[in-house]
Amino acid sequence: MAAGGQPPAEALPSVAVVGCGVVGATVALELARRDADVTVFEAGDVAAESSGRAAGICYDAFADAVDAEIAERALDRFRERGALTDHPYVWLARSGDDRSAEAMAEHVPRMRQQGRDVSFLDADDLESRWPTLETDDVARAAIARNAGYADPAAYTRETAELAVGEGADLRTETPVELDGTGRVDGEDYDAVVVAAGAHTARLLGEAGHPIPVKAYRVQALLTEQTPLADGVPMLYDATGGYYLRPRDGRLFVGDGTIPEEYDPTDWEESADGWFRENCDEYLDTAVGESVTESRSWAGLCTATPDGDPLVGERAPGLYVASGFQGHGFMRAPAIGEALANEVLGEEGIDAFDPTRFEGDESFEIVEGMTLED
Ligand SMILES: Cc1cc2nc3c(=O)[nH]c(=O)nc-3n(C[C@H](O)[C@H](O)[C@H](O)COP(=O)(O)OP(=O)(O)OC[C@H]3O[C@@H](n4cnc5c(N)ncnc54)[C@H](O)[C@@H]3O)c2cc1C
Repeated sequence: MAAGGQPPAEALPSVAVVGCGVVGATVALELARRDADVTVFEAGDVAAESSGRAAGICYDAFADAVDAEIAERALDRFRERGALTDHPYVWLARSGDDRSAEAMAEHVPRMRQQGRDVSFLDADDLESRWPTLETDDVARAAIARNAGYADPAAYTRETAELAVGEGADLRTETPVELDGTGRVDGEDYDAVVVAAGAHTARLLGEAGHPIPVKAYRVQALLTEQTPLADGVPMLYDATGGYYLRPRDGRLFVGDGTIPEEYDPTDWEESADGWFRENCDEYLDTAVGESVTESRSWAGLCTATPDGDPLVGERAPGLYVASGFQGHGFMRAPAIGEALANEVLGEEGIDAFDPTRFEGDESFEIVEGMTLED
């Protein structure tokens, strides 16, 4: 007992969070809310990398129970913050693409078994709801109603500000390295959380705790303002291999995935000419005309051997969150919460336990935006 008769206050865990993208910012906020002593190290500015380049598409239409629960929890948390614009997510397969149509036929019932509000739509339904869409050759379509979009950069910055408001020490323009001792930037921490996006594998490898995460490049294009943006759902055309969504009166078109490993310190940040040309074709297929480009860019996503992320304790006191296969933004509110819980000694997400791999596995990159498992 302390002199005043009060029990001694329990020491608050000190936690270093490496990376202030949406995942690092969320972990930092959740930990700071629970009175941990949090320091966030960010190499550049908040949302400098993938979180500042993402489309912000969010949905809970997953066929796997763990994925579906995480996505639902994340949507709830986006809504609590007023960060989500509800908007349905439609995906379709066009005539002649039996493989995508069959994949949809298999996945939609499995999503429904998980309690997801997902159903098939026929081409007439599609056309009457979104007359802007080209539907003549649609062979199969489905709609996920628990879906919407957010502004990833704004959400990430706001999350970081909330974390600072809860007492976190945010150090931008502060790249750090890990040496496996638990020290970060010369200081000791009870726990270190590495949420450094595409750089996570290198940092952990150098600390002697390798993880099998590869960076791959994806691309996006934003059109000029167009009235077409008012008449589209969020769309994934499985046959064309692209997605689009409305954004502030423009159309955001994405994919151009290159399933090759990239060095996260040396990659082309501009979109490729072929992708920008393909966007004309994508738009023509989706809405019957092409729309002038406003800007385009590339970004990195991260892949794992089994397509599931690595979230949890990799070695004593060393935690990781990476490998989101292009779905890191939509899951971040729930992933950050679960990882903070684990750092504080509670349950994490067993299915995403990073120790399920040795770290030296060789594997092919499979893009995340696909209808196939
Ligand atoms: C074009 C595009 C579209 C996308 N669309 C969607 C979408 O619609 N929905 C969705 O869910 N996901 C989408 N994604 C994926 C999503 O962007 C990522 O999964 C998510 O942003 C990952 O967040 P993160 O915090 O893990 O990584 P990041 O946002 O990359 O953050 C990592 C941070 O770590 C910092 N860092 C790196 N090394 C160090 C170091 N040594 N020291 C300190 N800091 C360091 C970086 O500067 C960076 O800010 C998209 C991605 C791209 C590129």
